[in-house]
Amino acid sequence: MYAVGILRGKPGVHAIDVPMPVIREPDDVLVRMREVGVDGTDFNQVRYNLQDIAEGRDQIVLGHEGVGVVEAVGSSVKAVAPGDTVVVTVRRGCGECEPCLHNQSDMCMTGNYTERGLHRLDGLLTRFVVDKEQYIIRVTPELRKLAVFAEPLSIAEKGTDQIRTIQSRLPWFCPHPDHSFLHPQWGGCKVALVVGAGPLGLLATALIRLAGAYTYVADILPEDHPKVTLVTRMGAEYIDSRSKTPEEIVHFCCTPTGELNIIFEASGAADTATMLIPHMSRGSIYMMTGIPRGDTRIEIDAAQMVRQFVRYNQVIVGSVNSNRRHFEMALRDIGLLETRFPGMLSTMITHRYSLEDYTRAFVPGEPGQIKTVIEVDPFV
Ligand SMILES: [Zn+2]
Ligand SMILES: [Zn+2]
Repeated sequence: MYAVGILRGKPGVHAIDVPMPVIREPDDVLVRMREVGVDGTDFNQVRYNLQDIAEGRDQIVLGHEGVGVVEAVGSSVKAVAPGDTVVVTVRRGCGECEPCLHNQSDMCMTGNYTERGLHRLDGLLTRFVVDKEQYIIRVTPELRKLAVFAEPLSIAEKGTDQIRTIQSRLPWFCPHPDHSFLHPQWGGCKVALVVGAGPLGLLATALIRLAGAYTYVADILPEDHPKVTLVTRMGAEYIDSRSKTPEEIVHFCCTPTGELNIIFEASGAADTATMLIPHMSRGSIYMMTGIPRGDTRIEIDAAQMVRQFVRYNQVIVGSVNSNRRHFEMALRDIGLLETRFPGMLSTMITHRYSLEDYTRAFVPGEPGQIKTVIEVDPFV
């Protein structure tokens, strides 16, 4: 069966052959893949020849942002039925640690997890996959054409969910009970800065705007870039960070009383990400989701930074991957986002290619590129 992936010792992306998967266990689900999103991690795997292939194997199928339709189910499967549109989650737990044993493999403590299309396990860029019922989530039919956003949005959902959980330590900064961090409108009367206007930054912006926060988005793009248009369309304010120092960016975002409640880092630019830290406000939270490559060395005043964390009750937290609950939140919010910002998500898909045309999908730096989708067997 035709698939697209990486070959051991052979740079680039390739058409590879994998066996047609079959249902073997009662809880197996056979899915016919429809659309698979490509993200920065996929691009980097190909561009920098990162080979995360299981021992004893010579290839890995790429693709971890997949939506498909159930073709057949094992005898015990209840949650989905043939014909249902579904998404497939990414990480498979280690089976040893407490988080993995409690449906939170995104918080795995051993590191012995696998990930479809990313880490040792074959991905979704192929015609059919089989997976366990617990890793398959049903999509309401109206949302099927946007379900390719479920995985990337689940990453933003986990990040914002962590922010809310941690910030529930504070009373809300305003007279409105609805603006508590535990309420759906938790963003009311709060200010957030999202760093990076790539797909993850844009999706984080969407969720933070949905929650009602005044939101700034910083990136190194000209004002007429399509990503900036989307930022503005969501009612967020764009900051061209090429013309501002990290200190100026933070001060530009702060309220008159000096508050910037949330920073959501989604650029993976290690130097900018770090240089924002000394300018965090009192009681604020800094969520990091971008993963830098290579080494970046900068000088910091360590004593000043430690003093600041302690005196200002600050939190810096990292967040990676997502679990089933975040996928379910994402699928709910895709519907809410479509109501609030109609057509916004589909506008984010700037490039579409057929599975056989995969080489073009992995060319980096396409002008105006935001989100690339590979159509295995597209929805009509
Ligand atoms: Zn684990
Ligand atoms: Zn308020």
